[in-house]
Amino acid sequence: MAPIPEIEITQRAARRIRAGHVWVYRSDVKNKHRATAGDVVHVIVRHRSGGTNLLGTAFFSPQSLITLRFITRDRVEPDADFWRARIQRACDLRSEWIGGDTAVRLVFAEADELPGLIVDRYDDVLVMQTLCAGSDRLKDLFVDLLKDLFSPRAIVERNDSSTRKLEGLDEATGVLFGKLDGPVEIEEGGLRMLADPLAGQKTGYYLDQRENRVRSESYARGRCLDVFCYQGGFGLHLKKGGAREVTLVDQSRRALEAAEAASRLNKLEVRTQVANAFDFLKSRQAEKERYDVVVLDPPAFAKNRDSVSRAMRGYKEINLRGMRILNAGGILISSSCSYHMRPEHFEAVLLDAARDAGRVVQVLERRSQPRDHPERLGFPESRYLKCYILRVL
Ligand code: SAH
Repeated sequence: MAPIPEIEITQRAARRIRAGHVWVYRSDVKNKHRATAGDVVHVIVRHRSGGTNLLGTAFFSPQSLITLRFITRDRVEPDADFWRARIQRACDLRSEWIGGDTAVRLVFAEADELPGLIVDRYDDVLVMQTLCAGSDRLKDLFVDLLKDLFSPRAIVERNDSSTRKLEGLDEATGVLFGKLDGPVEIEEGGLRMLADPLAGQKTGYYLDQRENRVRSESYARGRCLDVFCYQGGFGLHLKKGGAREVTLVDQSRRALEAAEAASRLNKLEVRTQVANAFDFLKSRQAEKERYDVVVLDPPAFAKNRDSVSRAMRGYKEINLRGMRILNAGGILISSSCSYHMRPEHFEAVLLDAARDAGRVVQVLERRSQPRDHPERLGFPESRYLKCYILRVL
C-alpha cells in the first residue's frame, strides 16, 4: 500500500477538532501536500516551536469546502477489517432497540464515524449513499462488506443527492447487487408502509420521522390534516390511533399513490389531495374549515445559511395558517428538517406565528431525531430535525 499522505491544518482548525468537531474547511488546510481526492490522510498541526502533533485520520476532498472529514482521532491505516468493524458496531447499536420494525438507518455517516456513508435498511433491501469523495472511493468495498454482514436481497445506490455535486461527484442511482424492481414493504410501529428505494424521495422513505410518527398516534382525535405528508405516515398513524377523519396533502401525486396503497394495506380509510401546501392551507382558512390535529412536515426550506431568513417566512406562513385552522385545544405537530434553522430560530418562528394568529400555544413535546440518527456531541450538523408537538388554545 502507498504511504498515507500527511496534511497540515491551521491551529484554529486544530482547536475546533480537539473540541469535538469532525470537519476541516478548505481555508484551514495548508497547501503543501501530496494527497488526491478520496485519499485517506493523516492530519497534523504544527506548533510555533516547529514540532507537529497528529490529530487523527481523515478523508480528503479538495473539491469540497469541507476538505477533511475525520474518521478517527488515531493514526490508522484503515483496511477492510477496520471498515467492517465500524459498520458492525453501527448495526449492533441499532439492533439493541429496533424491536419489530423492519426499517432502520444502519449507518448515519459522521455520527457513526463513517464519514459520508449512509446505509438504510428496508426489510431485506439495503440502500446506500456515499456522499463524500473518500466514502465514494470505497463504494465497492462497502457493497462487499454489506453483502457479507447482512446477506441482503438487493443493495441500491441512491447517490442522486445534491450534496455530491459539492464533492465533485456525479449523481447515480441503481441496483449495485441483487434484484429489485419496485417498492419494499416495511413495518413501522404496527403499520405496513411501502418504501421505494429506486424511485421514492431520499432513500425511498423518511426514516428520520419514524418515532415522531408513531408518537403522533397518542394525539389522535377528531379531524386531522397531514400536510407535506409524502406517503402519509403521520396521517395513517393518526387514523390508527382513532382519528375520525384524516386528509393527506402533498404536491407529489406519486407519493399520494403510495399513501393510498398503504392505506389499503392497513385497511385505514383516509382522504388524499394533491395540492401545493401553501395554497391548500390558505383555502382551508378561507373556507373556515377547522381541524383537531394538523401535521406540518415541509422539506428543508433553508438549504444554507443565506436562505434562513427567507425560510423563516415560509415556516411562519404555514405555521400561522396551521394554527388558525385548529379548534381550541387542537394539536399542531410542526417539524423543520433544516439544519440551518436552529431550534431557537424555529421557536421564534412558532412564537411569531402564534402572536399573529392571536393564539396561546403550549409546548407539549420538543422532539428530534430517532435513535438510529444519533446526534454526535461536538458535531452540531448531525442534529437537524426538530419536531414540536404543540397545543393551540
Ligand atoms: N411527513 C412525511 C415526510 C415529508 S417530506 C413523512 O413522515 O414521511 C416533505 C414532503 O413535502 C414531500 O413529500 C414533498 O413532495 C412535499 N412537498 C414539498 N413542497 C411542497 C409544497 N409546496 N406543497 C405540498 N407538498 C410539498
